[in-house]
Amino acid sequence: MKKLIAGNWKMNGDSASNAELLAGIVAGLPGLDACDVLVCPPSVYVASAVTALAGQPVVYVASAVTALAGQSVAVGGQDVSVQVKGAYTGEVSADMLRDVGATYAIVGHSERRQYHGETDALVGEKAQAALAHGITPVVCIGETLAQREAGETNAVVKRQLAAVIHAVGHCVSELVLAYEPVWAIGTGQTATPEQAQAVHAVIRAQIAAATEHPERVRILYGGSMNAANATQLLAQPDIDGGLIGGASLKVADFLTIIRAAQG
Ligand code: PEP
Repeated sequence: MKKLIAGNWKMNGDSASNAELLAGIVAGLPGLDACDVLVCPPSVYVASAVTALAGQPVVYVASAVTALAGQSVAVGGQDVSVQVKGAYTGEVSADMLRDVGATYAIVGHSERRQYHGETDALVGEKAQAALAHGITPVVCIGETLAQREAGETNAVVKRQLAAVIHAVGHCVSELVLAYEPVWAIGTGQTATPEQAQAVHAVIRAQIAAATEHPERVRILYGGSMNAANATQLLAQPDIDGGLIGGASLKVADFLTIIRAAQG
C-alpha cells in the first residue's frame, strides 16, 4: 500500500503564500512518486488549490510537468457537513468539495472536537456523508494527555473508531484514519515511534475485525511529525503515512517528509 502524506494547513495562508507553497511542493516532487500527497487548505482556498495544481504545466518549468506526469497532489477540505444542502449557514457539503475538485476531507480533527463540540457520533456521520458523496474522509482519532495518563488511550481510540465503523457500515475499507494524540498536536511533543506503533496496531486490529479488506485502510500518524522524526515514525509497520500540520506549511520540511515516505 502506498503511504499517504497529507498536509493540514489549518487556518493559515493567503492566496499568495498558498501559490508559493504549492509551486514549491510540485517543483520538489519529481522522483517522489512512491507515496500519495494531499494538501488540505482552508475551504475558501480549496478550489484555487485544485486550479493551481492542475495549471502547473502552464505556469512552471519542465520539472513541474514531470511531477504531474508521475505524481499528482490531491486536495481536500478540513471538514465536511453531514448535510447535503440547504439552510446550514457556514457549512460546506461533500458535494461542494467534490464539485471544485477535492477528493478528501479531514473529519473529526481534535480541534473540531474541542472547539466545535463534535461528538464521536457526529464524526461518524460526517465520515458517512463524505463517503456517500465521493469524498474520502481522513478520520482523526486520538486521546488527550489526561486520558493517556489515566491509561485510557486504547479505550478512547477504540470508542472513537467504533462510532465511525458503526456509521459507515460496509464502507470501512474506504476510510483513511489518522491517529493523532491530542497532546502531540502542535506541541512539538511527538509520540515516540513505539508509542505510535502500539496504538496503530490496536487500530489495525479493530479495522481487521470490521472489514474483509483491512489492508486497504491507511492509518496515518499525526502530531508534530516533522522533517527530523518522520523517517522513524514512517518506518513502523502499521504507520501508513502522516497527517502534518505545522511542517506542511514549509516546503522544505514537507518535501523531506514526503521523501521519508518513499520506503
Ligand atoms: C494536525 O493538525 O493534524 C497536526 C498533526 O498538527 P501538527 O503537525 O502541527 O502537530
